[in-house]
Amino acid sequence: MIDDDLQSIIASTKGFMPADEGHALHKAGVAAGRIGPLLEVGSYCGLSALYLGAAAREVGTVLVTIDHHRGSEETQPGWEHHDPEVVDSTTGRIDTLPFLRAALERAGLEDVVVAVIGQSPLVASLLGGGLGLVFIDGGHSIDVVRADYEAWAGHIAHGGLLAIHDVFEDPAAGGQAPFEIWLRAVRDGFTPVSTTGSLRILRR
Ligand code: MG
Repeated sequence: MIDDDLQSIIASTKGFMPADEGHALHKAGVAAGRIGPLLEVGSYCGLSALYLGAAAREVGTVLVTIDHHRGSEETQPGWEHHDPEVVDSTTGRIDTLPFLRAALERAGLEDVVVAVIGQSPLVASLLGGGLGLVFIDGGHSIDVVRADYEAWAGHIAHGGLLAIHDVFEDPAAGGQAPFEIWLRAVRDGFTPVSTTGSLRILRR
């Protein structure tokens, strides 16, 4: 459950997820965590990992959260979601890993969240299947989202959940790559379960 302590840590964690979407993600994690481990592509500073990590804690599973921590295209300097505070002043490069670690430590989730630093398709090639839930929220360009979907969709257990963030049907509301992947997942046989804001959940 999301108690008041966790709520205040969530409120002070950088990220791009409204509370209603976070709570929907947490609920999906609790349900899917009974099937198998949870996996997130795109940790950033740990906001959604707090929701999913709390879910993993509740049902006795783990969350694996993957990121190269160098920022996706849309968080680079000059882009809409750039935050100068996540730039490492010694290298001039984005490094969100310290923020993720701090968020997990403050929330007491270090024992149930496994942080992996690397490219998600490479990590997928090293891991097995049987996942309860895969949450795709990494880079939002079509080649990146497609690679994440193709790398991970088959790792989801039958009956498990696929969650995709930043799905906008209207091009005026946001980039179309996550929506394209949602359509692809439906074509591939995933069943739509819910929509909360831009968070869409499907069942394999
Ligand atoms: Mg997102």
